[in-house]
Amino acid sequence: MTTQKIFVNANIVTMDPDKPTAEAIGVSGDTISVVGTRAAAESWAANSGGGSPEIIDLNGATVIPGLIDSHSHITAGSLWGAHANCSSVTCQSIEDVQAQIEALAKQKEPGQWVMGFGYDDTGIADMRHLTYADLDAVSTEHPIFISHVSGHLAYMNSKALELAEITSATPNPSGGEIHKDDAGEPTGLLLENAAFDARKLLPLPDRDGIKELLLKKIADYNATGLTSTHDGGIGLSSSGPNFISIFNELDNADQLNIRVYGNIIMQAWPEYKKLGFGCGQGSNYFRIGGVKWFQDGSIQGLTGALLDDYHEKPGWRSELIYPQEQLNEMFCEAQAAGEHIIVHGNGDAAIESILQALELAQEKHPREDNRHMLIHCQMANPAYNHIERIIALGVIPSYFINHIYYWGDRHKDIFIGPERAARLNPLGSSLEKGMIFSAHSDYPITPIDPLFTIHCAVNRLTRSGDVLGPDERISPLEALKTFTTHAALCSFEEDTKGSIEVGKLADLTVLSDDILTVEPTTIKDIQVLRTVVGGKTVFEA
Ligand SMILES: [Zn+2]
Repeated sequence: MTTQKIFVNANIVTMDPDKPTAEAIGVSGDTISVVGTRAAAESWAANSGGGSPEIIDLNGATVIPGLIDSHSHITAGSLWGAHANCSSVTCQSIEDVQAQIEALAKQKEPGQWVMGFGYDDTGIADMRHLTYADLDAVSTEHPIFISHVSGHLAYMNSKALELAEITSATPNPSGGEIHKDDAGEPTGLLLENAAFDARKLLPLPDRDGIKELLLKKIADYNATGLTSTHDGGIGLSSSGPNFISIFNELDNADQLNIRVYGNIIMQAWPEYKKLGFGCGQGSNYFRIGGVKWFQDGSIQGLTGALLDDYHEKPGWRSELIYPQEQLNEMFCEAQAAGEHIIVHGNGDAAIESILQALELAQEKHPREDNRHMLIHCQMANPAYNHIERIIALGVIPSYFINHIYYWGDRHKDIFIGPERAARLNPLGSSLEKGMIFSAHSDYPITPIDPLFTIHCAVNRLTRSGDVLGPDERISPLEALKTFTTHAALCSFEEDTKGSIEVGKLADLTVLSDDILTVEPTTIKDIQVLRTVVGGKTVFEA
């Protein structure tokens, strides 16, 4: 017999425009059976023959549809759960970074690798790269490897350099640099392919270890109110196939407490296709999503491809990853094959290149309702009608709104200057022109915290307290859509997710206050009280 539950005594924000509010929800198994008054829910339970339902009294709390992060890295992020957090969210100085690494090193035997992530040279007081000496000060017995926040740079201590056999005599790999001092000695900083090569030395946990880290990470997601997420990079490490089998195993055992739309990295996609995987295949819990492409890097790493020079680096615009011809060809092929294209583009030159390739693909292989996703889309440029062209293509951007807070001041002063920074992540303009867009954390690049991201979209406050581009702020209701109704559209799941309606999955997030009515600058302070996935409570404060 399917279990029945009634959630009562609640302020329900349904996100269903036909019936925006309610006070009770009846759930049968994993599906919503009734939305309305308490009396309606009770009479449904009495007449449905399901026995006496469990009654959950929410004491006046607010219920919103289960939140969906449309671009994060739950797989890579769970592996990083065993690494030191060196980001500027946690650390303000190199001393803080050293303390984080030291705490982890203390738990490891000499000789075992100590890894860290997120070091941000322009985000901490010291304003410089790490050196091997900074890391040797923590330990010379453990090899230490720290990733830069961009993912494209890394730092090693002398023990790690020794294991990587990097000396003053080692030449730079193609497409990479082993940074050296004036005397020709390696400083510990590795760039691009030198960093990617060194990464191959790092140990990966075994399947059981990966499963344990993933379960912990899923619980972290649930605690922030998330019931679904996209994974923006399955296949980023060699553990990709393990993750898929673990997701499927948890799903079959009814233990997967988050729904995942898993996008496969394009380099790995041919292998996955050989194994029989296809876009959209899977269950309500784990589904193979689209194919993930990159056409530039990050603005704060100065690798975002721009149409005009970087603010404090005249003459520098960085470069596209693929020449236009090649991207055109690859997107035409993906479009013809019916694949869901998920493409990373931060700078306006990357956005321009992506739109040209998608326009050509649509012209050559017309398809209805593509919903290709433009991930980040931070510098959509009005001079090139990017917003209008995105709308015409039916592309759904997922904006990286957290940038306004974490990097907004530096975008204004260092990277792109005040004029371009004010229209970074142009939510207001997009809305005005009628675009549908979602938003994301890109965890572990910024913390998983959908309420904080919604807060950023509404307030656009930087770390220093400036409002960056006040005209681009949007209302709490529009901001909430980026994690509910509009996020559901990104994975073609609007029939089952995104709003609280009869027949949809019972994915619910219970909050201490109402996003739509609190003072907007306090949205980030709202507490998540309970998270429900398919009728099952997976988190309770
Ligand atoms: Zn990402």
